[in-house]
Amino acid sequence: MFIDSHCHPDGEEYDPDRAAILLRAAAAGVGEIVAIGGGGEPGTLDVALQVASRQPENGAHVWCTVGIHPHEARRASAASYAEMRALARHPRVVAIGEIGLDYHYTHSPREVQQEVFRSQLQVATETDLPITIHCREAWDDCLELLRAHVAGSGAGWRQRGVFHCFNGDGAQAAAVLELGFGLSFSGLLTFPKLGELREVARTAPAHAMVIETDAPFLAPVPHRGRRNEPAWVVEVARQLAALRGWSLEEVGDRTTTNFRRIFPRAIEPGPPAAQP
Ligand SMILES: [Zn+2]
Ligand SMILES: [Zn+2]
Repeated sequence: MFIDSHCHPDGEEYDPDRAAILLRAAAAGVGEIVAIGGGGEPGTLDVALQVASRQPENGAHVWCTVGIHPHEARRASAASYAEMRALARHPRVVAIGEIGLDYHYTHSPREVQQEVFRSQLQVATETDLPITIHCREAWDDCLELLRAHVAGSGAGWRQRGVFHCFNGDGAQAAAVLELGFGLSFSGLLTFPKLGELREVARTAPAHAMVIETDAPFLAPVPHRGRRNEPAWVVEVARQLAALRGWSLEEVGDRTTTNFRRIFPRAIEPGPPAAQP
């Protein structure tokens, strides 16, 4: 069994066949997925829970996150955090995310991104939930903010989380692990040019890794360039198996065990989610 630890099934790309991708995932052995919440303003933060509430019978089980993506940081307000705290109580919500910094696009000014990241780290501590981090071309600031938060929260923040779509070098991976976070590997692992990333995946501690698609983005080889979907996390697992010398089943077992340790609320799939 595989878990896609990060995808965006609320995306309009799936409007024609949202239920079908969850059925195809389950048929491919992907029994659970994490739907990432987006939005920024109050009233837009429950997109993942909306997908979970319409999960088809026999489809992959949908866990959720709530969070304000760094692209949307300029839309955040105190009311957004209040809504996040309220939604975080839902048993399907397993993490705060995706949150972090993105200096590649800078859709929101850097200072605003940093401020919103800090505020959401605080929400994670208050709600005792792990976080899913988005870090793009912002390594120094991201690590520094996290170090300050971890140090400042003392024992009050037991949960850490993962760096999603990890695409850093060996030193950055070491810094992530040192902070107690995990590495989430995506379809990037199958891209021919990213040999250094494969080396990180080959040598990282086995207990610290999970897998994801980030669908609809980053479709893995051999589907590259197409709309990605959770079923294809199996291709990420296949690449990891080849790198580590593990069987495909072993990749599924190990990453599932890691997932449940890092996201402790995601114990076992329960009954369908109630409408949030
Ligand atoms: Zn991201
Ligand atoms: Zn994402």
